[in-house]
Amino acid sequence: MDSVDIKMISSINLDIVIVGAGASGVGIGILLRKMQLESFCILEKNTVGESFSRWPLEMQMISPSFTGNFFGMPDLNAVTPETSPAYSFQTEHPTGKQYAIYLKDIADYYNLPVVRNVTVESLKKEGEGYLVKTQNDTLIKAKFVIWAAGEFQYPNDNPFSGADNCIHNSKVKSWMDFKDEKYFIIGAYESGIDAAYQLAKNGKKVVIIDANDPLSNIQSDSSYYIITTENGEKFTSFTKPFLATGFKTSLNIVDEFFDFEDGVIQLTDNDESTKSKGIFLVGPQVRHGKVIFCFIYKFRQRFAVVAQEIVKRLGENEKTKEILDEYKLNNFYLEDLSCCEDECTC
Ligand SMILES: Cc1cc2nc3c(=O)[nH]c(=O)nc-3n(C[C@H](O)[C@H](O)[C@H](O)COP(=O)(O)OP(=O)(O)OC[C@H]3O[C@@H](n4cnc5c(N)ncnc54)[C@H](O)[C@@H]3O)c2cc1C
Repeated sequence: MDSVDIKMISSINLDIVIVGAGASGVGIGILLRKMQLESFCILEKNTVGESFSRWPLEMQMISPSFTGNFFGMPDLNAVTPETSPAYSFQTEHPTGKQYAIYLKDIADYYNLPVVRNVTVESLKKEGEGYLVKTQNDTLIKAKFVIWAAGEFQYPNDNPFSGADNCIHNSKVKSWMDFKDEKYFIIGAYESGIDAAYQLAKNGKKVVIIDANDPLSNIQSDSSYYIITTENGEKFTSFTKPFLATGFKTSLNIVDEFFDFEDGVIQLTDNDESTKSKGIFLVGPQVRHGKVIFCFIYKFRQRFAVVAQEIVKRLGENEKTKEILDEYKLNNFYLEDLSCCEDECTC
């Protein structure tokens, strides 16, 4: 499906608006569908799974996919208990392109009301709910907003002076496009290591530079780049260095609706904003103390916590308990956060 026109939304007065049709938006959208909620839509800037379809061609999921669903151990990369990218693509590590197809297929199967090519620009409090303003000035009124706009399309591409001389890894279409002998990569987390692996596999020499604090003072002329680290070490790169400095967050668009303490978002036990009743967050930005829900197999366990709270306020129906039980049975429901008190590495 993936093709509802904004003019076709029969009412612009809805119970729920979900912003973003990535892993989070599609996952929670399907859960709302299963719970037989009718009055909602998913507003999507581009198309379903857009962030995944923008991954460099060679990039694959790190979390392994395996179809253990029938034994109560759903595929780690699934966003619903009964689906499995491993089953669909016969692979343990789906590429971004494959994962985008997986999301499109399941959004289609569940007939999700995705409205494509609509960018949400801002929210405004209106009575008990919110007015969601889009780029074409359409205003949609919603009792609840679920923020699922992710991070990938908000790269951290200016972390130090001179960073504009680099290429952020999210802008790379294929690592095969780089033909020189040697490359520098700044950042040694998952994106940086993936970049290094792909370049090395293609016969390139790679230097990875990483520090806990932002690097500073890259100077360059037109022929080379000098990367100076905090402790004064200098590296000369004859190719544009790659930035693998991670991502910011789409929350910047709506940060006035959330409380932050030391930069950490404050959410209730149901992942609702502590500041603005009715706005929920789903996806990798969800945090509770040391517990960070940075991967799909982690954040998918909060979809049902959010849906349960919204349905409680809208009015439960005969499907509510059945679907919640299905999610609980399949380890798609995590309320007790003591699981990750000591360490929650992401
Ligand atoms: C190198 C790398 C490897 C990774 N490997 C794994 C892995 O192995 N396993 C794992 O679980 N996770 C992995 N991740 C993380 C995973 O990709 C994210 O956690 C996941 O994409 C988050 O899903 P999301 O739906 O919240 O965000 P996204 O997938 O980014 O989806 C957000 C959607 O919102 C839309 N959108 C954005 N802004 C707006 C707006 N203003 N209005 C309307 N729509 C908007 C976007 O177009 C997009 O479709 C990896 C990430 C990277 C960078």
